[in-house]
Amino acid sequence: MGRNILFFVVIGLFFTLSACDENDNLQVFSLDQEIQLGQQLDSSIMSNPQEYPVLDTARHADAYSYLENIFFGILNSEEVAYRETFPWQIRIIQNDSTLNAFAAPGGFVYVYTGLIRYLDSEDDLAGVLGHEIAHADLRHSMRNIQRQYGIGILLSLILGEGGNQLTQIVAQLAAGAAGLSFSREFEREADEASVEYLSQTPYNCAGARSFFQKLTEDGKTSGIPTFLSTHPNPTNRFEDITDKAQAIGCSTQPYNPPSYQDFQRMLPG
Ligand SMILES: [Zn+2]
Repeated sequence: MGRNILFFVVIGLFFTLSACDENDNLQVFSLDQEIQLGQQLDSSIMSNPQEYPVLDTARHADAYSYLENIFFGILNSEEVAYRETFPWQIRIIQNDSTLNAFAAPGGFVYVYTGLIRYLDSEDDLAGVLGHEIAHADLRHSMRNIQRQYGIGILLSLILGEGGNQLTQIVAQLAAGAAGLSFSREFEREADEASVEYLSQTPYNCAGARSFFQKLTEDGKTSGIPTFLSTHPNPTNRFEDITDKAQAIGCSTQPYNPPSYQDFQRMLPG
């Protein structure tokens, strides 16, 4: 997929493209199998630096330390069902023109430098990370892949029966991981879960809504309108997040430690 197309597709963090069946379940797969698939995907992502130029954790230890502080802070929330089950991990992908983050099954989360640079504050980033944690924790990521590839292929992968095909399919899955879109229902669930997770942190629990607000504002003046015309209702999602915060009595006051810009400066380039 070309970079330009990719750019718009991967803004799909909040895409609601597909009208999907919400009733598919995960009875076939155990949590262990889901984690195993996530690990395979992560290995494949790591072995594809052209598509996924992941920042090295040792060379960029300060940036990772900053990010993991936010990430694991959110994961302390008792609302995260699999906080002690999944091997949670976050990686930074260096691509400044990509406003995206995504989650693979089993708690493997990826965030692009473009998104980190685009957001204005730690509250905003915490909101987005909460949203991605929710996609993994609510097993949206697994259900999406299951829907796309079918149970048969996934089972043979997990059972190691794929042979030579295995590497190829995992690579294919990995290549598409950032572009997977979720149904409206999954997006709404992840938005709401983000508010719940953040309610147990110092962050503004409506942090995720800043992203919609900013996209809406920028859409009037810059190249973002494509996003808005193909994926409407950022305003509704803004309001839904606000409503959810009010419903659970959670503060929407900014927390925003002033160090966010320092974090942005830790990124290469
Ligand atoms: Zn999402």
